[in-house]
Amino acid sequence: MTRLDDDIVTAMGDWRRDLHAHPETAFTEMRTSAFVAAQLAMDGFAVHRGLAETGVVGTLSIGDGPVIGLRADMDALFVEEKTDLAYVSRHAGKMHACGHDGHTTMLLGAARQLARSRNFRGTLHVIFQPAEENEGGGRRMIDDGLFELFPCSEVFGLHNWPALPLGSFAINRSTMMAAFDTFEITVTGRGCHGAMPETGIDPFIATAQIVLALQTIVSRHLSPMEQAVVSITQIHGGDTWNVIPDSVVLRGTVRSMSPEVQAKIESQMRSLAQSIAGGYGATAHLAYEHRYPATVNTAASANKAAKAAQAVVGEDRVIADCAPSMASEDFGFMLERLPGAYIFMGVADEGHRASLHNPSYDFNDAALATGASYWVSLVEQRLSV
Ligand SMILES: [Zn+2]
Ligand SMILES: [Zn+2]
Repeated sequence: MTRLDDDIVTAMGDWRRDLHAHPETAFTEMRTSAFVAAQLAMDGFAVHRGLAETGVVGTLSIGDGPVIGLRADMDALFVEEKTDLAYVSRHAGKMHACGHDGHTTMLLGAARQLARSRNFRGTLHVIFQPAEENEGGGRRMIDDGLFELFPCSEVFGLHNWPALPLGSFAINRSTMMAAFDTFEITVTGRGCHGAMPETGIDPFIATAQIVLALQTIVSRHLSPMEQAVVSITQIHGGDTWNVIPDSVVLRGTVRSMSPEVQAKIESQMRSLAQSIAGGYGATAHLAYEHRYPATVNTAASANKAAKAAQAVVGEDRVIADCAPSMASEDFGFMLERLPGAYIFMGVADEGHRASLHNPSYDFNDAALATGASYWVSLVEQRLSV
């Protein structure tokens, strides 16, 4: 396997800290995407810009061979950074708290190394997507024609994982991350004086029953062998002490591992909300939105990804059958379209224990070379000379 050149490792540290200082959120990754495009062009990649507004795709072909896609995400979060780093975020209220600065850097470093060593045969597309957080930038790139313009036989993604030690990887051959849905239930009764409840229909009573009943979906309607979460995260209703309002709004999120379970949860939620509200003379309307699908690896691609990781950190440092995470990823959209695999890379050490999305989080630069080497290893194995 080609080792990373020292100057690339040094450059990656500089790039990562610069990206960290200039975080940009969903679809506004102007500076970041310009930087990515310039680096790729410098390395001899054909560069395409504009998919999903700020998306960048770099292409490098060396002779005939398979075509694979490697994907990194570029966006930051709306989080106020609470670190005293020299390269602390210069954009108030925005922060690279999920390590996408590291992801972008590692794929750029790998691209530079691969363009330099040219130790593969085939075509490599490096895909830099905007708006992974909440807004589905990956889906937008697909809708804008990503895989028609750049057909790939397989696509691979990576996320840093603070629960795993630095210098390790974890993957499995099926579901890596859950599907992510949101819901809103509007319970409508009839408002009245708070002292004369018999003259109206109190939407709070039905709401209170619905909150508890929704917790029986996972515990009583799904098999104990299934994994899912139903969480109510907001309740809004009423304006003052002595008025029973017309309606109450409940919101929350659902995580699930399979389309069957996802459909079952939605239908059970609708039936419970409507029948409970109906029992009190109120009505309930459910708006249910599928946000991200589950991120499901193809077994054969996951095996190849594990092998590539083993070549970098050794066999005993790669967990090949990790448990899935209930968090979600819009890389799931790409895996719905193509075979491929998504892998977790460990970043935890003494100075890097904060979890993803925490205001104290900082991507561990000691992992940059490991992640870039993983990409190089994967390309050299998949597109072997
Ligand atoms: Zn995130
Ligand atoms: Zn992330």
